[in-house]
Amino acid sequence: LERTFSIIKPDATRRNLTGKIVAKFEDAGLRVVASKRIQMTLAQAQAFYGVHSERPFFGELCEFMISEPVVVQVLEGEGAIAKNREVMGATNPSDAAAGTIRAEFAESVGENSVHGSDAPETAAEEIAFFFSGLELV
Ligand code: ATP
Ligand code: MG
Repeated sequence: LERTFSIIKPDATRRNLTGKIVAKFEDAGLRVVASKRIQMTLAQAQAFYGVHSERPFFGELCEFMISEPVVVQVLEGEGAIAKNREVMGATNPSDAAAGTIRAEFAESVGENSVHGSDAPETAAEEIAFFFSGLELV
């Protein structure tokens, strides 16, 4: 089964929405196989979002990601990467399909409740960035 990496972002943890978001994953056929609540450091946020370092919103994005603890998870299922992206919905909640996490919970294009890996290579990298081999069974 495929695995993907997910972050429940500060806007969602702040509003105590972790369980409601996990329920969306589970309803879509994804299984949480690793989960922890962490406080990201600025250096971790900058490294994690390194591909966006030249974008105008980079500073704001990194400050947002360290503004509260986040929940990092590994999700498993058939076609987990695409399935997770589908249940997350479009980056901008005003474009997100009804019933998706971002349509129901996201506050803005920046504070959009969840992150999900976009390809097998990034999923593997992002899982290894936050979880050790011992935490993955
Ligand atoms: P993610 O990578 O978090 O799963 P995504 O792949 O849908 O989301 P990206 O284009 O990779 O979106 O952007 C990464 C994150 O940067 C977005 O989830 C959002 O938090 C933030 N972001 C993207 N575009 C903007 C914008 N125009 N203004 C502010 N923040 C933005
Ligand atoms: Mg992305």
